[in-house]
Amino acid sequence: MIHLQNIHKSFGNLEVLKGIDLDIAEHEIVSIVGPSGAGKTTLLQIIGTLYKPDEGCVEIQGTDVLRLSRREISKFRNKHLGFIFQFHQLLPEFTALENVMIPGMIAKRKNKELKEEALKLLEFMGLSDRADHKPSELSGGEAQRVAVARALINHPDVILADEPSGSLDSHNKEELHKLFFQLREAMGQTFVIVTHDENLAKTTDRTIHIVDGKVV
Ligand code: ADP
Repeated sequence: MIHLQNIHKSFGNLEVLKGIDLDIAEHEIVSIVGPSGAGKTTLLQIIGTLYKPDEGCVEIQGTDVLRLSRREISKFRNKHLGFIFQFHQLLPEFTALENVMIPGMIAKRKNKELKEEALKLLEFMGLSDRADHKPSELSGGEAQRVAVARALINHPDVILADEPSGSLDSHNKEELHKLFFQLREAMGQTFVIVTHDENLAKTTDRTIHIVDGKVV
């Protein structure tokens, strides 16, 4: 599903990634761990086509994403990749339902079908009765589950999550982790999760340790 070869990335004089090779199979749930500043988020952003490496090869589902034009990349990203961040980053002026629908609107999907699907996803997340709530009216755990539904709305093949449970209490952390496995069972996504959470890392299929810009 994901093939990275010899990835190098610097910001100015700071060499952050120093030759990363990584293959992730379809349906795998992989955690990326390592000390702060090791380059984990940078690596996730490269997989997410948000940064280009200075050197190396990035293939997602057999597509060489570095060869795509800017326009093709954003289309590819919207179709194939879903993102979950540490802080839910829902838009405060929109309801939970509208937030889930936004990536579908960007992809110019039909409103009726999109709304039905967003409601189904909210139901899957146990949030049917929260569809019309604004983010400020949701608990932290609920808001993060809305963000997961938003990441799923365009049926991405890969979910990229950066410290997804970092802002949650231990009960909600556990619930979110369970949800990832349920989603894989139900929808078959591949997950790449940057985390400091050892409990989460332990449960994933594979843990990649990054230290000083290298896989160790
Ligand atoms: P991690 O996720 O492992 O904590 P990051 O990938 O966020 O590490 O960052 C690795 C290093 O790259 C850090 O020293 C960070 O300050 C630097 N860095 C990350 N993004 C940028 C950027 N856009 N511009 C300059 N430096 C950056």
